[in-house]
Amino acid sequence: MLLATLLTTCVNSGSSSSNDAAVDTTSTTSQTVHRNSFDGQAALALAQQQCDFGPRVPATPAHAKCADWLTTTLQASCDTVIVQQASVTTGQGKPLGIKNIIGVINPSAEQRLLLLAHWDTRPWADNDPDQANHTKPVMGANDGASGVAVLLQLARQLKAEGTTLGIDIVLVDAEDMGINDDEESWCLGTQYWTQHPHVAGYKPLFGILLDMVGAPDARFTREYYSMYYAGGFTEAIWRSANGGHFINENGGAVTDDHVFINRAGIPCVDIIDLRSDSETGFCPAWHTVDDTMEHISATTLGEVGQALLNVIASLEQE
Ligand SMILES: [Zn+2]
Repeated sequence: MLLATLLTTCVNSGSSSSNDAAVDTTSTTSQTVHRNSFDGQAALALAQQQCDFGPRVPATPAHAKCADWLTTTLQASCDTVIVQQASVTTGQGKPLGIKNIIGVINPSAEQRLLLLAHWDTRPWADNDPDQANHTKPVMGANDGASGVAVLLQLARQLKAEGTTLGIDIVLVDAEDMGINDDEESWCLGTQYWTQHPHVAGYKPLFGILLDMVGAPDARFTREYYSMYYAGGFTEAIWRSANGGHFINENGGAVTDDHVFINRAGIPCVDIIDLRSDSETGFCPAWHTVDDTMEHISATTLGEVGQALLNVIASLEQE
């Protein structure tokens, strides 16, 4: 993802559209949520399993193997799994084969929640302090595996506990092959999905994107585009989270998968680690060879998973 720093100074919490305040989670506290708590350790193990394949760079054997594993893993906890195979064009103008992997829970339920994370990893650690690493791939323990791990574990827990809500888990490909100053070169899998949703006329209540949700010192502030397009939902998620790494502040603007989803007419919130005190706007390991398992934490993954469980519980009560 790409930080759009120009917009960071004009975050406005009053800019939410009128139809996005349907979820009221003010009464959802840890006491009223009847679900089992989210298992952050299990999510951490699922992140490790992804990293065990190596960097999941599109058009590599590790990427292909991980795609198969993600499909099988989702099949164990979802009613239907759809693998969307497509060819997209990279920022360098080259054709690229991608796979969006989509797990559907309760396909006939009308009320639906969209959950997303990108599963690919960046081919170039081009923010690494050592220039020699700029052509090496990023492991993506945080930038890729963390969000996917939370969603895989969430699906597993929902399978065990049951849910009345319709949930679509969309693991998007080729988010992270972008070039600075070329917005369209990012989020290629999501751009394809918005043109070819897995269900014709797909219209969930809203979407939640997870990106870089694993750092031990993560700061989840309310991202600018999330507030602009889906302010009511963003505020509801932050209220339903039990504090911790969810900071009660508005944050910067990021060109991430949710931007393309919002533009396609689905309100979508990005839960992403934003660092206003760093030059890049992200955590120190971002787009470096240090984005490894040592730098993600079961506690943080657990808080994010719990926030999703709380949202799901509140939607089920409606
Ligand atoms: Zn990235």
